[in-house]
Amino acid sequence: MSEDCVFCKIIEGQIPSNKVYEDENVVAFLDANPVSKGHTLVVPKAHVDTVFDAESMEYMWKPIVKVANAIREAFDVEDMNINQNNGSLAGQEVDHLHFHLTPRYDGSEIDISYNRSEPENADEVAEQIRSKTA
Ligand code: 5GP
Ligand code: ZN
Repeated sequence: MSEDCVFCKIIEGQIPSNKVYEDENVVAFLDANPVSKGHTLVVPKAHVDTVFDAESMEYMWKPIVKVANAIREAFDVEDMNINQNNGSLAGQEVDHLHFHLTPRYDGSEIDISYNRSEPENADEVAEQIRSKTA
């Protein structure tokens, strides 16, 4: 529990939420400001700020897939974004790790876009990352 963390307060039951799933390590609840019907946040019960501190949280994956399929079946929707923001430049507003599950309905207008470019020095860029994964 981190003081002043809104998701810790939800996990502790101090703030109400529309919970859709819970297990020993993970909770999932509806986003308070959904971008589409069924927009759900999947959240570890243990507080970490970002994915950079989440190496031991391999238990996140099964609930993410379970809840994604639950949304898919509940609303008969085949398309979905799953995204996760780290840091303010990346759009993170709540500093407690969370995954957004956002179903996409035909005709829905959600602006999630990346401006693509031609790669520059891809061999060097790959090596810079590869050297840190060893
Ligand atoms: P972020 O921008 O950090 O990736 O996303 C944070 C999300 O948390 C936002 O989509 C926002 O609507 C949601 N949120 C913020 N406060 C609350 C809250 O008190 N309850 C719920 N259910 N969602 C919240
Ligand atoms: Zn927290």
